[in-house]
Amino acid sequence: MIESLRRPRVLAAVTRLLAVLLLPAAFLRSPARCRYLACQWALGLRYPDEDLAGLAEPARAAFTRARAEAFWRDGQLIGLTSGHRDAAEQHRLFAEEVHRTGSADAARRRVLPPHESAHVRGTALDVRPTEGAAWLERHGPAYRLYRRYDNEWWHFEYHADTVPLRLPDPDALRRSALTRLAG
Ligand SMILES: [Zn+2]
Repeated sequence: MIESLRRPRVLAAVTRLLAVLLLPAAFLRSPARCRYLACQWALGLRYPDEDLAGLAEPARAAFTRARAEAFWRDGQLIGLTSGHRDAAEQHRLFAEEVHRTGSADAARRRVLPPHESAHVRGTALDVRPTEGAAWLERHGPAYRLYRRYDNEWWHFEYHADTVPLRLPDPDALRRSALTRLAG
């Protein structure tokens, strides 16, 4: 138990040390962006499974800039659990959730079908750990990254022009539209 509580803190400390050690190499690559680069390299080593490919470029840039600030200013690590998903992958996740919950309506509260998913558009980012998500919830809007759903602390979306509504769950907007139609 103590070990499992301590491990993330040790890994975070190692990651911060790594970033400092990577600064000279990053400086050789790009003096003006060395802190940004060293941070992304170190986080890539800390979260080897993360995959930023397929994200829309503004979303990817906003996320990496935000997490560089979190890292260097506040010592907070932020990793990407899931970013872009192709439509087939999103469909598989949706079908799994339908199977788990027993209905498409229930499934939509956790997973949207492909044509509605910001993950398929490349503008959604599921992040970890919870402390990193909390940092992003507080500071993300400066980068146009917004938490969208009360029931998903990990899910953020990039919105270039508007501040999106915060909703109870992924299906809330559709439900309110249906209620309006019905009423
Ligand atoms: Zn998500």
